[in-house]
Amino acid sequence: MSKPVLLTVDDDPEVLNAIERDLRHHFRTDYRVVKASSGPEALDTVRQLKRRGAQVALFLVDERMPHMTGTQFLLEAMKVYPDARRVLLTAYADTDTAIAAINEVGLDHYLLKPWEPPSVRLYPVLEDLLSEWFARARPAFDGIRVAGNALSPASYAVKDFLASNQVPYQWLDMENDATVCELLSGASGGAARLPVVFFPDGTTLVQPTARELAEKVGLQTRAQKPFYDLIVVGGGPAGLAGALYGASEGLRTILVERSAPGGQAGTSSNIENYLGFPGGVTGADLARRAATQAKRFGAEIITAQEAIEIRREDPYRKVILSDGSELTGYAILIAPGMEVRRLEADGIDALLGAGVYYGAALTEAASYRGRDVIVVGGANSAGQGAMFFSRHARKVTMLVRGPDLSAGMSRYLVDRIGETPNVEALVNTSVAAACGNGRLEAVTVVDGVSGERRELAAAALFIFVGTAPRTELCADLVMRDAQGFVLTGRDVMTEGRHPAGWTAARDPFLFETNVPGIFCAGDARQGSGKRVAAAVGEGSATVSMIHQYLQTV
Ligand SMILES: Cc1cc2nc3c(=O)[nH]c(=O)nc-3n(C[C@H](O)[C@H](O)[C@H](O)COP(=O)(O)OP(=O)(O)OC[C@H]3O[C@@H](n4cnc5c(N)ncnc54)[C@H](O)[C@@H]3O)c2cc1C
Repeated sequence: MSKPVLLTVDDDPEVLNAIERDLRHHFRTDYRVVKASSGPEALDTVRQLKRRGAQVALFLVDERMPHMTGTQFLLEAMKVYPDARRVLLTAYADTDTAIAAINEVGLDHYLLKPWEPPSVRLYPVLEDLLSEWFARARPAFDGIRVAGNALSPASYAVKDFLASNQVPYQWLDMENDATVCELLSGASGGAARLPVVFFPDGTTLVQPTARELAEKVGLQTRAQKPFYDLIVVGGGPAGLAGALYGASEGLRTILVERSAPGGQAGTSSNIENYLGFPGGVTGADLARRAATQAKRFGAEIITAQEAIEIRREDPYRKVILSDGSELTGYAILIAPGMEVRRLEADGIDALLGAGVYYGAALTEAASYRGRDVIVVGGANSAGQGAMFFSRHARKVTMLVRGPDLSAGMSRYLVDRIGETPNVEALVNTSVAAACGNGRLEAVTVVDGVSGERRELAAAALFIFVGTAPRTELCADLVMRDAQGFVLTGRDVMTEGRHPAGWTAARDPFLFETNVPGIFCAGDARQGSGKRVAAAVGEGSATVSMIHQYLQTV
């Protein structure tokens, strides 16, 4: 396979040669460096590269060029290579333009000229961006290939699992590609049971479970130690932060995640309000960085394993996993977050995975390029979903039950939706039914004021109708409120008295449940902030309380 391309553009021959030299010096083993001396010439190159099936990993472009500015070039180039990282080369005087470009073209970074020494001011930034790009790039031929039918829930589940775990794969749709049927006919199980996953070592898995897939692609699914200081349940921002701080402070730490690290945040197409990421960060990137960081400090992360029960066997705490195995330790951090609520309407369940999806279903966006899609919900997650799909779909219709968008959505998203011509919000509107023969074709909606029903043609329906805490696993052990949120700290005390079964000679810590040594952080905790930063803060803050608890066992 040919190397991915780094394309650099500058009208000043001296600068162009200097940047080309520096890029080649550092990146030539893994990338091909291509240069162009103007925006139009570079666009020609981009189109040729696309025709030849080359991958472009990064554009590094001078902002001030005659005929076409760097930002103008990026606007055109990203239509051809939307995933390539975008960096502007600017003079100090152009900083404002570069900041504007963060929004206009989703700029990943701007570099000030000169970039001397490159080992400090050029390579670290580009390496970071290229590792992000690489994590999402799909190898053309020599990686995992998933062959199946785009409208089958089983195919969707496999793609979603691989994508959430950031395992690159190539999707082969049997409906659009005759060679896929040929490929399937040779695979065990054949086309009758889909999807079939082809691995580079020549083996296949037919309609695999998440655990089979996890084991095959080398993800850890079983504990390596007999005993842990800290067991974390849930790999969302709260759990990842708990695991990271626990491991970094020397605790034997394991995190168990039923699906993939990232949690709800991992499904977000762009988190714009997390500290330190002025251009926003995708949930997938944040999850990858956090999981890597936690593992670097020695935390074990096991995936495709659900914690089904938590037990107290003093002084130990146990977590029972879905494969029947047990994890034993001194302390547990429960961070199972929230799960999406089901939408009660006719036809939804029958069409799940065949045009109807819960959440953003990022893996499916490309399938709905140029089509009409519907997003249900009026909170931030629905707004982000609508903005994400507006980049692919012909039209996005938002169905919002309330009388206006601003009731449940941050102002910046309401404004952005207002400015996006292919997104329309229908307020006072809810879903009555999803209709279609084997795949979604239309959605029947009801006007909450007039009671009028009508049908909207749609290729896909993405549902964001709220969430509920996923705390059943500890229902018999810890105190929860009527909605299922876990009570912690002073909330487990009644009129200053300790809860039943409380054995410690102290009050519960801030994030401790009514069982000493069992803590809860993040969205599943009653009174939590329901934001990424809040979950991260709680998960990390819990570790100091766990340290204090461990001194008593
Ligand atoms: C689409 C979307 C966009 C969002 N955008 C933003 C945003 O821009 N900014 C912002 O601040 N917030 C945003 N949020 C909210 C934010 O993502 C959450 O507040 C945050 O993820 C909560 O973190 P958490 O760790 O508590 O739980 P979650 O993120 O819900 O993670 C919990 C994890 O635990 C796992 N789990 C659950 N039960 C078990 C079990 N029994 N065994 C093993 N694993 C289990 C789940 O699979 C999940 O991975 C968004 C949410 C959504 C859905």
